[in-house]
Amino acid sequence: MMPPVFRFAPSPNGFLHLGHAYSALLNFERARESGGRLLLRIEDIDATRCRPEYEVAIYEDLAWLGIAWETPVRQQSEHLADYRAALEKLSALGLVYPAFESRAEIAKLVAAREADGPWPRDPDGAPLYPGDARSLSADERSRLIASGAPYALRLDIAAACRRAAGLTWNELGEGPDGEHGIVPALPEAWGDVILARKETPTSYHLSVVVDDALQGVGEIVRGQDLFHATAVHRLLQTLLGLPEPAYHHHRLMRDGDGRKLSKSSWSTGLRELRAAGVTPAGIRQLVGLG
Ligand code: GLU
Repeated sequence: MMPPVFRFAPSPNGFLHLGHAYSALLNFERARESGGRLLLRIEDIDATRCRPEYEVAIYEDLAWLGIAWETPVRQQSEHLADYRAALEKLSALGLVYPAFESRAEIAKLVAAREADGPWPRDPDGAPLYPGDARSLSADERSRLIASGAPYALRLDIAAACRRAAGLTWNELGEGPDGEHGIVPALPEAWGDVILARKETPTSYHLSVVVDDALQGVGEIVRGQDLFHATAVHRLLQTLLGLPEPAYHHHRLMRDGDGRKLSKSSWSTGLRELRAAGVTPAGIRQLVGLG
């Protein structure tokens, strides 16, 4: 039997904090106890937010924690052709359309719809796409594209869900409401998600699904903040004919006020804790793995 593959997949858009340490250490432990492999993947598709110094810091902080990973490390920004190929597959199924509204125009549309009552929000609390670009005629689309208007490529979620109904996943960890075992996937809750933008020709959802399959990841260990996104991942996997991994979502580290840690929570940053004399064993204790 092939050894199971795990991955830790941070984005280099800030320094790692205790939440990342917990996720990386859990992956490392799960790989070790199952005789598996641990990969590190740098999710750097967002050129405006990712910086090389954060990537260097990721390597330093993980090595300091005592985590070992395989090389070469996959950097998403170097594999845009893989994501483009997946996008073309989805387009060929007739499930992708260009939407030309700017972020500001979308905010205005949502405000207009909310005048008539609440507009639905996705599991992260963002309003669903309110536009009607899906029904633009082919001529109108071509005209707008030819005019150089920027656009995002969106997934026609209703059509996609008709092709892949009744999806589930195997949750080995726990969702935010205690979900465990075979969990129903509800991708409709996200609306017509963006799969690619003009400036970033892919998206988190698309690249994570493509990479996990290409890298043979069988058990995805990550924070509960991505629990609901798994529904979109299962949908894309099914549409693209990719294998189904198991998922293991873990609890999130909270700050003193019960808020999820962010990259600006400097008081829980691994670099600050290290400078203050905390040891790697101390970090394990702080995240409850001591
Ligand atoms: N790159 C994502 C993040 O840093 C994690 C992706 C994943 O584990 O699926 O939040």
